[in-house]
Amino acid sequence: MASQTPIQSHLVSSNEKYASTFTKGDLALPPAKKYAVVTCMDARLDPAAAYGIDLGDAHIIRNAGGNAQDALRSLVISEQLLGTEEILLIKHTGCGMLTFDNVTAAGLVRQHLGDAGVKELARFAGDFQTFTDLEAAVRSDVAFLKESPLIPETVTVSGWVYAVETGKVRKVV
Ligand SMILES: [Zn+2]
Repeated sequence: MASQTPIQSHLVSSNEKYASTFTKGDLALPPAKKYAVVTCMDARLDPAAAYGIDLGDAHIIRNAGGNAQDALRSLVISEQLLGTEEILLIKHTGCGMLTFDNVTAAGLVRQHLGDAGVKELARFAGDFQTFTDLEAAVRSDVAFLKESPLIPETVTVSGWVYAVETGKVRKVV
């Protein structure tokens, strides 16, 4: 057997324990509660626990910042192929996306990955979708989804902030 990193070993041992008592192998593919959550990849967020999502209930789409544009491809699949009818967009306090800008990020890419890396930033127009105002970012992402021709009018979209300091969510829009 090929050697494993400590992270890989952790995966294997944790999963053995998980699978040994696993009983939910017969869930349907479409989310039972017909909704999708867009939220941040931040390591301090536990969406299943904090947002009350049981296995099989909802799609959880995570990316840097809980970004709506980044999530759009997955949301179209969620709605058109798998029947979801509501979107919860949940950003959070202390988000890393509040801490840098495109120029800084592009500078790091240039420093570590060179011109080839910088050129490749064109894949997302060099826009890391950072923000300076958390609530404004929630509002503009919700507006983006509501205005998108790819999101049906019938889909309910709401925007929330999760506080990493307290574990509480509050509705913004
Ligand atoms: Zn974040």
